[in-house]
Amino acid sequence: MTADAHEAAVARLREAYAAWPPGTPVRLAKHTSNLFRFRNATPSAGPQTGLDVSAFGHVLRVDPARRTAWVGGMTTYEDLCEATLRHRLMPLVVPQLKTITLGGAISGLGVESTSLRNGMPHESMTELEILAGDGRVVRATAGNEHADLFRGFPNSYGTLGYTLSVTIELEPVQPFVHLRHFRFETPEACMNAVARIAAEGSFRGHRADFLDGTAFAPDELYLTVGAFSDVAPWRSDYTGQQIYYTSIRSANEDFLTIRDYLWRWDTDWFWCSRPFGVQKPLVRRLWPRRYRRSDVYRKLVALDRRYGLTDTMTARRQHPPREMVVQDVEIPVEHGADFLRFFAANVGMSPVWMCPLRLRGERAWPLWPMRPGEVYVNFGFWGTVSLPAGRTDGYFNRLVEDEVAKLDGHKSLYSTSFYAEDEFYRRYNGEEYWALKHAYDGGGRLLSLYEKCVSGR
Ligand SMILES: Cc1cc2nc3c(=O)[nH]c(=O)nc-3n(C[C@H](O)[C@H](O)[C@H](O)COP(=O)(O)OP(=O)(O)OC[C@H]3O[C@@H](n4cnc5c(N)ncnc54)[C@H](O)[C@@H]3O)c2cc1C
Repeated sequence: MTADAHEAAVARLREAYAAWPPGTPVRLAKHTSNLFRFRNATPSAGPQTGLDVSAFGHVLRVDPARRTAWVGGMTTYEDLCEATLRHRLMPLVVPQLKTITLGGAISGLGVESTSLRNGMPHESMTELEILAGDGRVVRATAGNEHADLFRGFPNSYGTLGYTLSVTIELEPVQPFVHLRHFRFETPEACMNAVARIAAEGSFRGHRADFLDGTAFAPDELYLTVGAFSDVAPWRSDYTGQQIYYTSIRSANEDFLTIRDYLWRWDTDWFWCSRPFGVQKPLVRRLWPRRYRRSDVYRKLVALDRRYGLTDTMTARRQHPPREMVVQDVEIPVEHGADFLRFFAANVGMSPVWMCPLRLRGERAWPLWPMRPGEVYVNFGFWGTVSLPAGRTDGYFNRLVEDEVAKLDGHKSLYSTSFYAEDEFYRRYNGEEYWALKHAYDGGGRLLSLYEKCVSGR
């Protein structure tokens, strides 16, 4: 898409938005979503009721000399990486699921195995073009008159406006990633190793260009340390019969192409493809390779939620109801072991994904309470748990929310939340949020952050 075509699409969108009668609910008409809030509404409305943003799903320009990309706000990381890898470049942080978009990762945050080096996806943006809630189209940078919006956009979840395009920095890649999986037998040993890697940039002689981890049990945890490499004595392929997360337990060392490394978690949606049978050898052989993707599984989950199939079967079999516990939380590394022990004792779901991170620079982001210089670990857990007798939906999620607060952590908002409104705005900087809301969506055309992320409207 050319810059002129983009400008024309922006003008059309602005007119369409202005023509909507005040009070009409505004939603993005997108074909994919990675949100996990199904309570009162489908996450993305269909094209007939939503804002048509299909023109903003393209890479506009990759500039190899400057190492930047100018990208439509609804572009998926899959498409973006295809375009940048051609120049042996990649975004500084690539969220693991192929259909996560730039706009989604910036307004809804993201984290991946480069996050200890490079922070979060929004920290490598240099300019945002935003359709604000009040209908203006503004360009926001860290230093211009819209710097407040630039800083306040991350974690605003489309409640201040929508990103139409983003300029981001890129970094050079090598063709392969050399992985080593290190096992730990206590959460404390594992978290100590994270702190060491954060300080030294390597572990047992292996450079940590990438770092994440998988906890199968409190006495079986792995850190996977990845180093860029120009050579690979062999290359594994986890898009076929082999499954990436099971390989972590059986191999000490591995090699992947950079593309396969970036999407290593997508093929089996981490481990969440298990309930569909895709991890059974026979089903896997029959399940077409092109459908072994996170967006396919998510659509199946959305269908299940819409028609209540699993809930009906659970009730028919007279099994206790199950609660969906799908969350990512960030805990300071010194409390990470406490969180893992709490989680194993009280929720008991496994595996748990672990991704160390710290802010890339000194700049803080008002709606996301991370402190510069501090090392955190993102713990991700995605599944359902049987409710104990007498407990109702929300029991486990509230336990997690309380523990996260106790350990001085914070919770991402892409899934269900149960905070009371005053507590929510205390945790997510309501004061600055409302100042931005009045400045950029004074008429309140878009939902508020609480309405969107907690009430599920
Ligand atoms: C099982 C699971 C695992 C996950 N793991 C990870 C992970 O490991 N790493 C990670 O980074 N993330 C992870 N996520 C979270 C995911 O990154 C966020 O949900 C992200 O916001 C999704 O982006 P999306 O592009 O799919 O946006 P959508 O799902 O379409 O939308 C997300 C929110 O962002 C808003 N939005 C979307 N596009 C724009 C835009 N252009 N401008 C402004 N607002 C917009 C929407 O209104 C909505 O509120 C995970 C989610 C799940 C369910």
